[in-house]
Amino acid sequence: MAVPQPLDSLGRPLGVLRLSLTARCNLACPYCLPDGQEPPGLLTLEQRLAVVAAAVALGAGSLRLTGGEPLLQPQLEALIAAVQPLRRQGLREIALTSNGTLLTAARARALRQAGLDRITLSLDGADGGSVARMAGLTDARAGARALDAVLAAIEHARNAGFDPAAGALKLNAVIQRGRNDDQLLPLAALARERGLELRLIEYMDVGNRNGWRPADVVSAAEMVERIGARWPLEALGRPGHGTAGRWRYRDGGGTVAVVASISAPFCGDCNRLRVTADGLAYTCLFAPAGSGLDLRPWLQEDRDAAELRQALAQLWQRRADRYSEERQQQINDGSDGEGEQEGPARHAEMAYLGG
Ligand code: SAM
Ligand code: SF4
Repeated sequence: MAVPQPLDSLGRPLGVLRLSLTARCNLACPYCLPDGQEPPGLLTLEQRLAVVAAAVALGAGSLRLTGGEPLLQPQLEALIAAVQPLRRQGLREIALTSNGTLLTAARARALRQAGLDRITLSLDGADGGSVARMAGLTDARAGARALDAVLAAIEHARNAGFDPAAGALKLNAVIQRGRNDDQLLPLAALARERGLELRLIEYMDVGNRNGWRPADVVSAAEMVERIGARWPLEALGRPGHGTAGRWRYRDGGGTVAVVASISAPFCGDCNRLRVTADGLAYTCLFAPAGSGLDLRPWLQEDRDAAELRQALAQLWQRRADRYSEERQQQINDGSDGEGEQEGPARHAEMAYLGG
């Protein structure tokens, strides 16, 4: 029997499950600053499968696996293989976000074989110094090694069948003013040379550790203007429920995208549910720390799958989040958020929520 698909209190359907597999990471990007260790009570593979099944039944056609660094999770391929039968229930695509430094040729092939559709690799600089600065590495030599690993990972993924021309392989870059905004053109050139879409992300006020200030944000409009001055661009728009506005290089050099969650929030059609590695369900990336719904009571062996679906459906129906729009209103009203990260933990951390 088909399960009714819930709308939230603002009429938004559930479309995407972002499932974090670990809070740990092998890097320490200062804008993210992950925990060194896992929270207690990590979900098992079976519990994760149950969460994905419930979300798919409620309308999530897209599953994005993330972290922390998801390649640190040894059961990643097993989970991807285990969710394949859910394609018959409406799961259309399975994607992975990774920093790429651990993606060997064998791992890329294993992920493809398990049934992964898309990979997005994160890279915030095109030289060793910039990569080191953005990834929290000791020096430019360590940065150059990480950069080489990601460049190799791009080719491993491509060779394993993740075709950038079909949107199956993309590059993410967070841009921070004064730290790596000089990397805009080098990163765009790197992505163009490799036939990849570069997705430029505005630096966000996620978590409590990165000392975010509005002045550190390079707006999507500015990023587009700076890249467009070098390679003229034509707007393709933001697909419904998408996070990124896309642009086409007029010279045929592919596309570039910008995620403007600070300067042009897209809460209005946000369809994303986030579940942390320890089973807390959050309906907004900017939710207060600890406020997620703990799904573990519904994930015990004796519980019925319908109960978990119902708990998630109720959570989704109550959802009223529009944090980014409210933040922008505050900035427009003149209270620009400076110093707003002081005091008790306001937001859950990015590496915990999975971006
Ligand atoms: N470790 C993986 C990676 O880096 O791709 C997956 C997890 S990471 C939290 C997911 C995405 O969030 C990455 O593309 C990362 O650059 C982005 N991210 C992390 N902190 C951010 C912040 N403060 N503002 C904007 N994007 C951020
Ligand atoms: Fe790790 Fe990704 Fe966070 Fe960087 S952004 S510290 S790679 S989880």
